[in-house]
Amino acid sequence: MPKLVYDFIEGNKDMKDLLGGKGANLAEMTNLGLPVPPGFIISTDACRHYLAEGIVPAGLAAEVTEHLRRLEQEMGRSLGDSGDPLLVSVRSGAKFSMPGMMETVLNIGLSDASVQGLAKQAGNDRFAWDSYRRLIQMFGKTVLDIEGHEFEHAIDEAKRAKGTKNDLDLDADDMKALVDTFKQIVKTRTGSDFPQDPREQMDMAVNAVFDSWNADRAILYRRQERIPSDLGTAVNVVTMVFGNLGPDSGTGVAFTRDPGSGQQGVYGDYLQNAQGEDVVAGIRNTVPLQELEKLDPASYGELMQIMQTLENHYRDLCDIEFTIERGKLWMLQTRVGKRTAGAAFRIAVQLVDQALIDIDEALRRVDGAQLAQLMFPRFGDTAGAALITKAISASPGAAVGKAVFDSATAVERAERGEDVILVRRETNPDDLHGMIAARGILTSRGGKTSHAAVVARGMGKTCVCGADQLEVNVAAGQFAAAGKDGQLVVRQGDVISIDGTSGAVYLGEVPVVASPVVEYFEGNLDPAADELVSAVHRIMTHADKRRRLGVRANSDTGEDSARAVRFGAQGIGLTRTEHMFLGERRQLVERLILADSDDGRKAALAELEPLQRGDFVEILEAMDGLPVTIRLLDPPLHEFLPDLTELSVKVALAGDKATEKDKKLLEEVRRLHEQNPMLGLRGVRLGLVIPGLYAMQVRAIAHAAADRIKAGGNPHPEIMIPLVGAVQELEAARDEAEKVLAEVAAETGVSGHTLIGTMIEVPRAALTAGQIAQAAEFFSFGTNDLTQMGWGFSRDDVEGAFFGRYIEMGIFGVSPFETLDAEGIGRLVEIATTEGRATRPDLKVGVCGEHGGDPESVRFFHHAGLDYVSCSPFRVPVARLEAGRAVALEETGGSDSR
Ligand code: PEP
Ligand code: MG
Repeated sequence: MPKLVYDFIEGNKDMKDLLGGKGANLAEMTNLGLPVPPGFIISTDACRHYLAEGIVPAGLAAEVTEHLRRLEQEMGRSLGDSGDPLLVSVRSGAKFSMPGMMETVLNIGLSDASVQGLAKQAGNDRFAWDSYRRLIQMFGKTVLDIEGHEFEHAIDEAKRAKGTKNDLDLDADDMKALVDTFKQIVKTRTGSDFPQDPREQMDMAVNAVFDSWNADRAILYRRQERIPSDLGTAVNVVTMVFGNLGPDSGTGVAFTRDPGSGQQGVYGDYLQNAQGEDVVAGIRNTVPLQELEKLDPASYGELMQIMQTLENHYRDLCDIEFTIERGKLWMLQTRVGKRTAGAAFRIAVQLVDQALIDIDEALRRVDGAQLAQLMFPRFGDTAGAALITKAISASPGAAVGKAVFDSATAVERAERGEDVILVRRETNPDDLHGMIAARGILTSRGGKTSHAAVVARGMGKTCVCGADQLEVNVAAGQFAAAGKDGQLVVRQGDVISIDGTSGAVYLGEVPVVASPVVEYFEGNLDPAADELVSAVHRIMTHADKRRRLGVRANSDTGEDSARAVRFGAQGIGLTRTEHMFLGERRQLVERLILADSDDGRKAALAELEPLQRGDFVEILEAMDGLPVTIRLLDPPLHEFLPDLTELSVKVALAGDKATEKDKKLLEEVRRLHEQNPMLGLRGVRLGLVIPGLYAMQVRAIAHAAADRIKAGGNPHPEIMIPLVGAVQELEAARDEAEKVLAEVAAETGVSGHTLIGTMIEVPRAALTAGQIAQAAEFFSFGTNDLTQMGWGFSRDDVEGAFFGRYIEMGIFGVSPFETLDAEGIGRLVEIATTEGRATRPDLKVGVCGEHGGDPESVRFFHHAGLDYVSCSPFRVPVARLEAGRAVALEETGGSDSR
């Protein structure tokens, strides 16, 4: 086994894989000379071994002994010593931050003997016994799996006996009595005494932290945040410092910039005479960090200096936790802080302007998911809206939904398709399910660093917190607020609107408007007019400069095409022609299918053709000068016919009075009915089987192009044949198309080369791409169908049916219809690209499935060497950004340089 334990001085910030984020950063701060309580880190290697084998690696105990001995020497005290005990905390810390999801045990080393020593050293009996009862409580819950409410109940009882509601009214004797009660609970529940041996406490706590990697909430959080499940956690053993030793002590959380807006300044919360966990849990109201300047100017000054040092060192927003023990400042944690999407863009360009990073680095530090978030609508005119209260804007966005007061209800209602806002006094890690299900989160307690705020920001979910004017009554399922006409009560199911940007909470539904970032992409907003928009503009401009991938849009109408161009699309990668056969035109399709003679069919096609031609003219005009890939008809024909059951009922009910037309239609619908239409007569198969259909479409395209040229335009249509599985299919369709193109050229006198290509969306096409490229001038991957057919998953059914379960079981982390399955379907893409280009070196290759606008998939397509991605107009900016990031990330081996 390699080395398993590291002193803080042996690590650095780049060792997160091995030491976890917390450990690596504690090491970095130690080496920067900042005041970090000494300690050591047990590596993730040890955790992975423990999780795989069920026991810790053989050498671990000896290594821990060695590092503990060094720590004891440094501190001049030994762990759990009865006269002057060294106490430690045992803290989880994985590579990626998972706030509150895993376990931590404080005050390890206290026992019946050492509690006396601590009391003597601190000169404070109550503090010592309170620390001991905290240890038994945390240890009991975390290590021994005793239900937390058993301990909480005992505390409530003690307070009731004393006639108080405040913990602080419990004195040393009360705490001593609680310790006895807690020890009794441990004995009853486990059959053993609370361990008195400090080393045994420590080893058991370490294993419990390892185990907490696989706690339900940690698994759920990882799935949500797409954190791999096999990383494991490191364990930090840190000398205890106490923020609860009196008014000259305290604990706090701070950011070097506002994580909500990116503004530079002093942001944080401070809690006097308290331990760290009290702040993050949001259970007591904190004061703004600025107050510390009055309470303890020396520590405040030192903290400000350290924050500056950290920002300059990490070249980014840092988030820190600190404790002041009797006027001495200690740094307990730092990390590059989570931030809202808007803050991410603003901070990235601010740092460029401060010359701390270059613009490439700025590009690496934002992502497509954040940009997509900035494009969500916001609340528009709120002048007439019924404001209930204004509280802390913890995570931006506009959320409207029915108020619900517990997570189970949030999940239940969301599953029924309702939009809900989860309203709680505060949230804790057990609320994760409800937070995921809700559109937004509203709490009456806690600040910008409360659990609700931190987790919501991480999820990109709207959150307003600390709405202390609301009286939230979870049991009654309601909250009350003082309104101008007396008390206002909002009950479960009432609609409320919360604004995570301003902190406002409204009764009822407030209408939403487009975001300024969308207004900018639309060309309606000058980037210089708004700081956020200007940041987005600078990074987008750079992404466009850096990217190699082209970005096109999927669009079927002139209007969408025009928007796509405004959003930066360089053409159309997919025009689905099927919608052009719906609505009133459906009658014509019915006539086409029902025609019992060539003449009848030709007549129907002749009526469809000018309509199609008009559609194409509109799109070619919107995309003048740019390529427009038009796909010939793809879906099975029955989609354009009446429903079999409905028509059968209609004919049956009409009996003798059924019309000849309906009877004939029913016959045809029956004839065309397929058990698996997505695997049936669709795509090129339809084109080859229904005479004249594809020819009509090609003629409409050619005429539309000729019309545009005559009107002075510069059209570039490309004809795309769907669902090809064999080169022979493509050759047949191609021959027909070429014939029609030549005919139209002769008729109109307008000629030019029209590319003819195919979608690659059937696995067989991908595997015979070398042959198919002989007949195709371009490929466009239809990754929706390729995923459907590659996995054998019906794209219309499985996501709602069982993907939830599959994701829970870890079969995949995210739906393969959302993010391309790089290993399987991606392999088909790579094979087809390589073999297609081997046949035809100038083959153009793109993708037009939904994955073309998914951030991770876009980066995959860049690496696979595609020429372009195509996605819905709204996702075009995301694809542009990610295509640029793919290049910038490639140069650093895939990560930013913090
Ligand atoms: C695809 O299959 O990926 C595709 C773009 O075609 P459609 O979604 O229309 O089947
Ligand atoms: Mg398809």
